[in-house]
Amino acid sequence: TAKVETLEFQSEARQLLQLMIHSIYSNKDTFLRELVSNASDALDKLRLEAFRDKELQVDTDDLHIDLDLDAESRTLTVRDNGIGMSREEVVALIGTIAKSGTAEFLRKLKDNKDAAGQQDLIGQFGVGFYSSFMVADKVTLLTRKAGEDTGTRWESTGEGTYTVEPVDDAPQGTSVTLHLKPEDTEEHLYDYASRAKVVEIVRRYSDFITWPIRVEPEGGGEPETVNSRKALWARPQSEVTEDEYTEFYKHVSHDWSAPLETIRISAEGTFEYQALLFIPERAPFDLFMRDRKRGVQLYVKRVFIMDDCEELMPEYLRFVKGVVDAQDLSLNVSREILQKDRQIQLMRRRLVKRVLATVKSLLADKPDAYATFWSEFGRAVKEGLLDDFDNRDAILDIASFASTDDDEKPTTLAAYVARMKENQDAIYYMTGESRAALENSPHLEAFRAKGYEVLLLTDPIDEMWVGAVPEFAGKKFQSVAKGEVDLDSEEEKEEAKKHQEEYTDLLAWMTEALVDKVKEVRLSTRLTTSPACVVGDTFDLTPNLEKMYRAMGQ
Ligand code: ADP
Ligand code: MG
Repeated sequence: TAKVETLEFQSEARQLLQLMIHSIYSNKDTFLRELVSNASDALDKLRLEAFRDKELQVDTDDLHIDLDLDAESRTLTVRDNGIGMSREEVVALIGTIAKSGTAEFLRKLKDNKDAAGQQDLIGQFGVGFYSSFMVADKVTLLTRKAGEDTGTRWESTGEGTYTVEPVDDAPQGTSVTLHLKPEDTEEHLYDYASRAKVVEIVRRYSDFITWPIRVEPEGGGEPETVNSRKALWARPQSEVTEDEYTEFYKHVSHDWSAPLETIRISAEGTFEYQALLFIPERAPFDLFMRDRKRGVQLYVKRVFIMDDCEELMPEYLRFVKGVVDAQDLSLNVSREILQKDRQIQLMRRRLVKRVLATVKSLLADKPDAYATFWSEFGRAVKEGLLDDFDNRDAILDIASFASTDDDEKPTTLAAYVARMKENQDAIYYMTGESRAALENSPHLEAFRAKGYEVLLLTDPIDEMWVGAVPEFAGKKFQSVAKGEVDLDSEEEKEEAKKHQEEYTDLLAWMTEALVDKVKEVRLSTRLTTSPACVVGDTFDLTPNLEKMYRAMGQ
């Protein structure tokens, strides 16, 4: 007799399931896109695994996704003969949410009371398999991993617990059976037990899936393939609609909202490839977390090779999603080979340039889209100022920063330089924890008083790149909190010199008295209202960095 175990969902998983059951998401059709997307991933993985591991006894000649409808029992089953899952994988992957930032996400969701805001958050998070519970009151998953003998049945109503039990005669792959909720007769929003509806959803959301998605014809018979299976990147650009790009983006990115921008690249000649890249509209939760993944996927001649191909996109553009399909690589290609391949390096160079150029054209032509982009991804892009020397200027061109010129709107460096005073030869900036803290700093006073604009840099990364990047458009970056600042005219300098002489004795005495605390006491040209301030030497650490190092125990 099989032993059935009842297990509890991890608490984050439980909370998400509750949200799905009392669905706040208005477009319920998306559950099918998620299940088909998972099935497609599972088929990709099986093909790859079979290719790499010749010992694996699997049949890869007839990989497909079947959708079975049973109107009488009101069930819909999505079945694939892909890689499948072991019992441990079922528990780990389906019973828990390993996504970093989930707890924080749920907190935000709770705080956000309005429905549109909640939907937006859910969309940004992506709920994958759990979206089944928008339309089903019970879900049964039967799976057997390729190469293993015993399968696993998983079942749940989504309310706190699920059961798992071993199954002897499970076919290889995974089937997910949804026990559909009663039809919503009042609103006629959905009837997912209807063939027409299911086919419509597949065509709308999953047409580009490369595997056949099959549905039995009305009245029975051999299942028919209902998707066109065309790789979007291989079709002429003029033939692909905006909606098709959007749905494809959602599949590769696991995002639920449309991308900000779509980029197509095609190279012919000795090293042929096509790329279809997307800039998302929102930063993922884990943009600054260590275990984030999923950037660009590598395909070779239409065959999926790997996710998150680091060799194709630098770290600072890790938010770019999409596919690169290379025609002249071997299907066996490994990370090690990719790292050494000159063609791959050239391709990466070109991809990076195109992404940066795309942002530049947003800046010129779609200021709102650019502003969204920069507020979501600017912090990551600025890492490139340290990592990518070749593109430093291109990054500076598309960067923008808060400044004393405008309380809200950040400025580009070009706009700053255009506003510089005639006698000004440096770009002034100040770094710190927040705009408010900077605004209260005495260091700003003299600059303000004399009408100089100062960039207010508050991201931790800013401290690093301002030290490393020598200049923009021939203008040096100069901290207002460091070293001598020369804001004065000749007369003012004369005046100051006289002053300094008058106070020589006092200053010498003060320097002596404060010998443990400061290097030197000087008369200030910085201050207008504060009596005194502490200034760093040109090559000193900034207070923020000092704090950081101290916190690290150095
Ligand atoms: P995501 O696809 O974003 O990882 P999901 O909730 O859709 O999140 O799925 C969670 C995980 O469960 C997948 O990453 C995959 O490892 C596993 N999984 C889901 N469906 C299948 C399937 N049909 N075959 C094999 N593994 C699956
Ligand atoms: Mg998924």
